[in-house]
Amino acid sequence: MFLRELNDPVIKLKGVGYTGAGNLARLGIAGVSNLFCHYPRDWEDRSRLHPLKDWNTGRVCTEVQVLAHDWFGFGKSKTLKVYVEDDSARACLVCFNRPFLQRQLPVGIRCRLYGQFYYKYGEIQSAAFEIEPLSSKSIVFGPILPIYPIVAGLTQNLLRKLVYQAIEQYAPSLEDELPESIIKRDSLFHKADAISEIHFPASKESLERARKTLIYEELFYLEVMVGKRVLQRKNPLSDNYTSPQTNGDLSPMQLRLMERLSFSLTSGQEAVIKEINKDMDSPYPMARLLQGDVGSGKTLVSFLAALRSVEKCGQAALMAPTELLARQHAENAARYLEPLGIRIAFLSGNLKAAGRAQLLKALAAGEIDFVIGTHALFSNDVIYRNLSFVVVDEQHRFGVLQRQAIMAKGNLPDLLMMSATPIPRSLALTVFGDLDVSVIPDLPPGRKPVKTHLAKESNEAKVYDFVRRELESGRQAYFVYPLIEGMNENGENELKDAVFMAERLGKEVFPDFRLALLHSKVDEEEKKQTMDAFRKGEIKILAATSVVEVGVDVPNASCMVIENAERFGLSALHQLRGRVGRGGDQSYCFLVYSDNLSEDGKLRLKVMLENSDGFIIAEEDLKLRGPGQIAGIEQSGYLKLGIADPLRDTEELERAREDAFAILERDPLLEQNEQRRIAEVLERAPPFSEIYSVYH
Ligand code: ADP
Ligand code: MG
Repeated sequence: MFLRELNDPVIKLKGVGYTGAGNLARLGIAGVSNLFCHYPRDWEDRSRLHPLKDWNTGRVCTEVQVLAHDWFGFGKSKTLKVYVEDDSARACLVCFNRPFLQRQLPVGIRCRLYGQFYYKYGEIQSAAFEIEPLSSKSIVFGPILPIYPIVAGLTQNLLRKLVYQAIEQYAPSLEDELPESIIKRDSLFHKADAISEIHFPASKESLERARKTLIYEELFYLEVMVGKRVLQRKNPLSDNYTSPQTNGDLSPMQLRLMERLSFSLTSGQEAVIKEINKDMDSPYPMARLLQGDVGSGKTLVSFLAALRSVEKCGQAALMAPTELLARQHAENAARYLEPLGIRIAFLSGNLKAAGRAQLLKALAAGEIDFVIGTHALFSNDVIYRNLSFVVVDEQHRFGVLQRQAIMAKGNLPDLLMMSATPIPRSLALTVFGDLDVSVIPDLPPGRKPVKTHLAKESNEAKVYDFVRRELESGRQAYFVYPLIEGMNENGENELKDAVFMAERLGKEVFPDFRLALLHSKVDEEEKKQTMDAFRKGEIKILAATSVVEVGVDVPNASCMVIENAERFGLSALHQLRGRVGRGGDQSYCFLVYSDNLSEDGKLRLKVMLENSDGFIIAEEDLKLRGPGQIAGIEQSGYLKLGIADPLRDTEELERAREDAFAILERDPLLEQNEQRRIAEVLERAPPFSEIYSVYH
């Protein structure tokens, strides 16, 4: 039997009635397999002796002899006292509500005793103790005892007894789920021993080994599921598809685009477009994640890829998280690609009915080659003639469902997901584990790292002075605020807001420079005009909210001032800082924080001050926030495993992945033992029934 096949209800165990079963159900324990997987949250080492005379160290764990019984109180509140003694001292056990101990602990018997003691009435006393005759088979004195997560109505001892019973009854029939070769190689436990030792370890060493075994097994099957997805995707679309097998060199259309640009590709961009070309020319759909720090030139790579798909007579779509960014991409595409004869369109939710109807008709008729827009790209009424390539820019801003919705508009289109917010290793191996990953490690030549400064709110005047000098030398600046509006007319508010500060900066601080306000509630047309004017350098200062966070590309801007910076998350701060430093000149980022700074806020600012590498910042972010929130998978519960923690157990995760992939990739016809074992587990008792994926 595999563990998950043990479906006998817990009520079959001795000592479980209807109430008990109800209480266990509240812990998610219905069957024996659940009981086994209700892993201890901690273990208590009762193997070392703590004699009675050392009662004031907090706990006693010793062997005693029962000396005498006594009673105090009357009637119902009559209470038993049991006097005991070990080699070091005598003590009195006050047995509230435990009169039955009189029979269980006759005078003269030797017992194991565990408890917290105090000194009262001239005696060493305890009312919180556990005791059992030496002759009995111990589950109270482990030597290392499990401590379980419990709910009201259950006690540690009841759970211990049940698990102990279940182990005796069921564990011997447990089959291994891990391949034998791995168990041998890593000296892991067999499943039966792993389960028995995780609950009632014989020693610290065997506890460690049991943990290692179960963690590994869990991660192994997680990666088996990921690996199966990869295999599924890489199944050729049809058997008679003969792939052209290219070496990934730039295609004629791609070369024509490069001829029109004043610069050449960075070596990172070049390597990545090669990988993409190879994927796009292969017989299976691409699913590739492109990571590159802010400013590394991902947009150009996606344009080149779009050209490749159009060359092959497909339609391409680029989805961006904000209208501002989508519009910027559309304008760039129009500038670079239209001259090559590519038919470009822009689609957002704000498009007027008449224009929209016409656009949708053209899309459906295949008269548009490359459409760029927001999530409007996958609205119900949008139909593509032949969507064969999808780019998701700033992919971390989209949810799984949105990514899937756009993919569903085509027939297994090639997918390119881009992000400057790198996916930490633990997620890259799991949630995103079935994607191929490309990295642009370099920035275009001549970029200088942005200089970052922290400033207290009370010192903001100095920051403003600095920015003024930059403006005077012809540069531009962003001021970013956590709120659109909210401050009252006296300027009293904990947080600064964009509307109020735009007023103040424009009138009082920088009266000589043209300033504009930008936030999500500004009308789209006005937003567009503002961005155009800012890009052209007519507007010098943008007072904004985090709408400018992603993608905005204005190389002449050299100052990014983020006020109430402590209110922004790390990835937002990194993205915002990435809005400057896009040209060849020195740029600056000022993180202005308020005086009542939280510990959390302080940590984030420190990370920003000390790091410029987006990968490191993302790892820090993960540590501070936990994985769920980062990939937008909070609801999926995907990373809530039984005993493994992909964040903590990264080494094991990497090894599990290597093993799982290696075994899956071996020819299934060889009927390897390993493969048979895995196939059986998946068929009879899969540890993970459904694995969430960003690619379907
Ligand atoms: P991101 O990777 O953050 O999306 P962008 O695609 O917005 O970066 O590119 C940032 C800027 O770098 C743009 O102004 C773009 O035109 C420019 N750029 C892209 N590739 C190169 C290159 N190979 N050499 C010089 N500049 C480049
Ligand atoms: Mg970008």
